[in-house]
Amino acid sequence: MALLDIRVLGDPILREETVPVAEVTDELRALIDRMYDTMYAAQGIGLAAPQVGRRECLTVIDVEGAKHALINPEIVETSGKAKGEEGCLSIPDIYGDVERATRVVVRATGRDGKPFELEAADLLARCILHEVDHLHGRLFIDYLSVLKRRSALAKWTKEKEKYPGLIRRLTPAEVAAHHHRNEEL
Ligand SMILES: [Zn+2]
Repeated sequence: MALLDIRVLGDPILREETVPVAEVTDELRALIDRMYDTMYAAQGIGLAAPQVGRRECLTVIDVEGAKHALINPEIVETSGKAKGEEGCLSIPDIYGDVERATRVVVRATGRDGKPFELEAADLLARCILHEVDHLHGRLFIDYLSVLKRRSALAKWTKEKEKYPGLIRRLTPAEVAAHHHRNEEL
């Protein structure tokens, strides 16, 4: 399992717009598979290409067994509104409540190169919106109130010292610990 390094808050790539994928190649499929491996190792439910230092408009998600690679995703419909707690693999140990739509319809291209449309609700909808935001340089902390964002960033100033070069490298020990925990659950 070849894991990718995760870029953390402060790396400029997290704030950049991605580039639409023109063609689903074997190389892109290999990237998708490595992104899944990295996401599972980090115990995430979604991971977007900029988080692993890539510019492709691509994200992978797995929310309660709903596993999808979304290439060039586009949110075509939203409805409802609810607040819910979010975290991000690129801002470890920082959490905050974000108001999002409770239902979305997303149009994307799949790993097989075929276009599809997905209707999602609740956590899956939240995850899709969070990941699509990543593809446009937006992060969940952008939605926090001024006060909450300030306190999150103050906490992050200390947290980020754990990530030299703004890189989060999953160590084999960390991965093993996570697998063990998963088995316990
Ligand atoms: Zn994120």
